[in-house]
Amino acid sequence: MDLLIIILASLSLPLFFAMIFVSISVKTTFSKYNQTSASCGLSAKEVARRILDANGLYTVQIASCAGVLSDHYDPRNNTVYLSSATINSNSIAAISVAAHEVGHAIQHADDYAPIKFRSALVPIVNFASKLITPFLILGILFEFIAVFSVNVSSIFYLIAFVCYAIYCLFTLVTLPCEYNASRRAKDQLSDLGFLADDEIAISSKVLGKAAQTYLLSFLYSLAQLARILLMLLSSKRNNRR
Ligand SMILES: [Zn+2]
Repeated sequence: MDLLIIILASLSLPLFFAMIFVSISVKTTFSKYNQTSASCGLSAKEVARRILDANGLYTVQIASCAGVLSDHYDPRNNTVYLSSATINSNSIAAISVAAHEVGHAIQHADDYAPIKFRSALVPIVNFASKLITPFLILGILFEFIAVFSVNVSSIFYLIAFVCYAIYCLFTLVTLPCEYNASRRAKDQLSDLGFLADDEIAISSKVLGKAAQTYLLSFLYSLAQLARILLMLLSSKRNNRR
């Protein structure tokens, strides 16, 4: 068991570099296919509107947002935000990204369980995330000072571990949400005739690359969790001496 935790923890750095590599790769894949126009002749915004309407989601708004590939759906104001590179573009990449965000809007309308759970986790994760670093620092500090007969550093590490485990769960539950939104996007684009079969293949490449970032951030968070667990276990062992 210990060996498994050590192996997992040692993957932190390679996974960190893999995350950087994939995030660059997402941008280059998007840029590449942002040059390829879709045969439907509609902009990403127009396609998003039509998919929303086809699913009866007339009240969902579409707005622009700043940033590169910052496209997202906000359930709080029921709005699909499309970035400047996406919103007015007619490329297969832009249409795919817009359809993916609409996929999230459909998930909420369908009461798709993982997205409901993920949304419920957001405030808890935001709170727990703020506690991780301070409690890790306290743990290290008290282990170093070791002024108490009962090692309080273990308690601090345990709190940091629980908070990080919540974050880790959040990255895990993000996976089905993202893969499902991409599947819904491709189904809608194909069924409603916005993209032809060869264009759907390109859409799969663009959305597949983006999904890899979520998979890697889950694996990275798992490796980081293992590192915190190692700190907790070693402080408990020191305590027994
Ligand atoms: Zn998404």
